[in-house]
Amino acid sequence: MRFSNYIRKKTARLKLSYKPYTLYFKRPFKIAHGTRSSTPIVIVQLEYEGLLAYGEASMPPYLGESHETVIAFLKKTIGIIENLKYPFDLETILKEIDALAPNNTAAKACIDIALNDLIGKYENKPCWQLYGAKKTETPYTTYTLGIDEPEIMKQKIDEGSGYSIFKVKLNGEKDKECINTIRSITDKPIAIDVNQGWKNKEEALEMINWLKDKNVLLIEQALPKNNWDDAHWLFERSSLPLYADESIQRLSDIDKVKDCFDGINIKLMKCTGMHEAFKMIERARELKLKILMGCMSETSCAISAAAQLTPFTDYADLDGPLLIRNDLFTGITFEKGKITLNDLPGIGLFQKTLEE
Ligand code: MG
Repeated sequence: MRFSNYIRKKTARLKLSYKPYTLYFKRPFKIAHGTRSSTPIVIVQLEYEGLLAYGEASMPPYLGESHETVIAFLKKTIGIIENLKYPFDLETILKEIDALAPNNTAAKACIDIALNDLIGKYENKPCWQLYGAKKTETPYTTYTLGIDEPEIMKQKIDEGSGYSIFKVKLNGEKDKECINTIRSITDKPIAIDVNQGWKNKEEALEMINWLKDKNVLLIEQALPKNNWDDAHWLFERSSLPLYADESIQRLSDIDKVKDCFDGINIKLMKCTGMHEAFKMIERARELKLKILMGCMSETSCAISAAAQLTPFTDYADLDGPLLIRNDLFTGITFEKGKITLNDLPGIGLFQKTLEE
């Protein structure tokens, strides 16, 4: 991140506070892992010289984090954060926090996001500008259609009529029926997410060949995440671009995907936040990998943070706030599906406090 030189203020202290919430989906959300109606999150607030900055941890079941584990991790970080006299050296601070425990990536991400927001607010600049991005070069977000019966799929497509790309969740059960239903209603481009749901490479190749003439942009995580030999086999034969999601989590994972996938799905909750996500973008470009910026079920806080980096990506799947009933923030927006960054400092949130 680019920022100017700060004067070190020995008296300034950071104050960290946090609060757990539950987000409720507008509709039950079914993917290959199972069905959920809500998701736990934690919102972090940093206070520094009268500025308030925010971060968010969202915990999908498969990463093993919960309200309890995130709060336990945040308690470990309070000593580090509140004793910082200079909260702007992200590389050093985040390295120290990362070393506190393995995993806990969503808990680490909420601190990263809040620190990025704070730096932007201190500099009075949006994060996209501090990272050197061009505001208008954002992609269109996909709008996710969870697995459902044909009648409900029709309603979901109608609800997403303002978006130009659909993301379709498949699970290996009624996949062709699902795609046929969608194609009977709309010819908009679709991105497919299998969430590891195709159990073998032959089934995956057969489905890809069936899908290739159906205006499909990409296939995400076709096979189980650790099945690298089969991923390579499929990569050599696939007529559609293959993206890794569950197979890749952090910067250190990128090099192993280059012979098995065309692109990667970067999510702040998997990779500990914006600072590491930006490094992943740089490394992916060196390896000629395409990039999709994805999300978990999140409020406009974490989504606005991820959106700051989307001018560097090929695709974005940042529809988290569109699928929940109780968004806690107002942040970046979508103009007919195109991610629209604002000029607010930090991650682009309108001001709020945790007590509201
Ligand atoms: Mg995915």
